[in-house]
Amino acid sequence: MTNSRGETRDRVKILAVADEVSASLYDRFDPARWADVDLVLSCGDVPPSYLDFLCSMLDVPVLYVRGNHDDRYSAPEYDGCEDIHGRNVEHKGLRVAGFEGSMWYNGRGFQYAERAMRGIVRRSRLKSIRHGAPSIVISHAPPAGCHDGHDVCHRGFGAFRTAIEAWKPSLWLHGHMHAYERGERDTTIGQTRVVHVFPYSVLEVPVRAAQPLPSVSTQSGTPDRLTTAQRRVRSH
Ligand SMILES: [Zn+2]
Repeated sequence: MTNSRGETRDRVKILAVADEVSASLYDRFDPARWADVDLVLSCGDVPPSYLDFLCSMLDVPVLYVRGNHDDRYSAPEYDGCEDIHGRNVEHKGLRVAGFEGSMWYNGRGFQYAERAMRGIVRRSRLKSIRHGAPSIVISHAPPAGCHDGHDVCHRGFGAFRTAIEAWKPSLWLHGHMHAYERGERDTTIGQTRVVHVFPYSVLEVPVRAAQPLPSVSTQSGTPDRLTTAQRRVRSH
């Protein structure tokens, strides 16, 4: 693949974000540190202004899904950022699918009953028959039984397990579990590596990732102490 800097590479460097604005990626943003990022993926519950900032500072595409609290996103596409909920898009050899929201618990924001999410996943799987299975999936909520919680709000979707079995994506990235940040964050299910992104992770994947990724390297951010400016832009 040839990136926006004209370099040809067989791996894509992904910056994934979720749930909290990291000072390293905002107040203390160092362009040199992130210069080789090819793609930003957001697993939700971050302010649109944060994605706008990353998009313009890194000059790379941003693909996102909304979290349960993200009712401030007014348009599905803006300033280089693209909502991929229920969709299956290709970015320079990488096929990426996305699912927004959390398990239904009080009806506010973006919440889905298991049955509703099952329908969304089923439709996405039908589309993938024509377009090809995604090698990366981003969701806000986790798959059932993987990094999820016991309360309804943080319960994972069984529909995502079905998608993992059907698509066998190399990578499944999710957020939403920051309340459980000390729990397991990197788990393998079959051929799929499931990563809990909080507040960010850096991952490198082969451009055509159809096989398991034992060589994928990861760097995870630790939550930063928030400044007043960050509290203004963080989602909750
Ligand atoms: Zn959430």
